[in-house]
Amino acid sequence: MEQTLLRKCSERKLPQFFTSRIQKLKWRSLSLVSNSERPLIEVQAVSRIYSLGAVPVAALQGVSFTVAKGEFVAIVGKSGSGKSTLLNLIGGMDRPTSGEIIVAGRTISQMSRDELAHYRRNMVGMIFQAFNLIPSMSAWENVAMPMLFAGKAQSERQARAKELLARVGLAHRYNHRPVELSGGEQQRVAIARALVNDPYFLLADEPTGNLDSRTSDEIVHLLHHIHQQGKTVLMITHDHILAEQLSTRIITLKDGEIICDEAHKPALTNLQS
Ligand code: ADP
Ligand code: MG
Repeated sequence: MEQTLLRKCSERKLPQFFTSRIQKLKWRSLSLVSNSERPLIEVQAVSRIYSLGAVPVAALQGVSFTVAKGEFVAIVGKSGSGKSTLLNLIGGMDRPTSGEIIVAGRTISQMSRDELAHYRRNMVGMIFQAFNLIPSMSAWENVAMPMLFAGKAQSERQARAKELLARVGLAHRYNHRPVELSGGEQQRVAIARALVNDPYFLLADEPTGNLDSRTSDEIVHLLHHIHQQGKTVLMITHDHILAEQLSTRIITLKDGEIICDEAHKPALTNLQS
């Protein structure tokens, strides 16, 4: 069933005329509602042109969508479709060439450097394909690292890291360094780190890309659990099965444009209900 939906999705492309009209109407109505009713994330006509070489590359072209609190959105598309570019923009690591990204009512492009650093540290929880843990640090130190900048005392950081490591099933790996952990355990430490400052949402880039299928299942169930507990998740993947299992919505990118944006029933919920 979901496969059919996805196939249909990948074949359909809304004419630009209609998408821009719909988006304009949405923005007009947005200005009439209060902040609490606004979507958590608003991506408005975002383009990103890389102009390093002789020929400019339009990695994203006029991309618009909103994400409400509590959604689990999978952004899918082939290699080179613009997924990582979009993730970098929403994560505050890059700026759009044109368009706006608004999170919890705040326009990212209008943030100062300090505000942007605060945004990346406290509002977004990043999960990467390669885990990106610091090899010289123990599991708890990695988890607590984002708290260092907030000037929290060591006792508070340790207590919070312990709580998060227990939540991802790794209380017994508290003092282990990444090299002493399996790939799945490393990713669980990275997920604990992403949650440590209780961000508004998680941004995951191919979170199971470096894992074997059994370990990958553990991470899938952990992400599912975190979403069930109320966390909004945006996950970038080229793995359709992963998107099918977890997401409440699937956005398909092709050549820097959204070709489909559909609600979806996550397969994991189907199995459990
Ligand atoms: P995906 O993550 O879906 O594979 P990317 O967002 O990485 O896609 O890339 C989208 C397009 O932008 C590709 O054509 C890629 O070659 C190009 N691109 C990505 N990053 C850069 C960069 N820093 N400079 C120039 N072109 C880039
Ligand atoms: Mg990529």
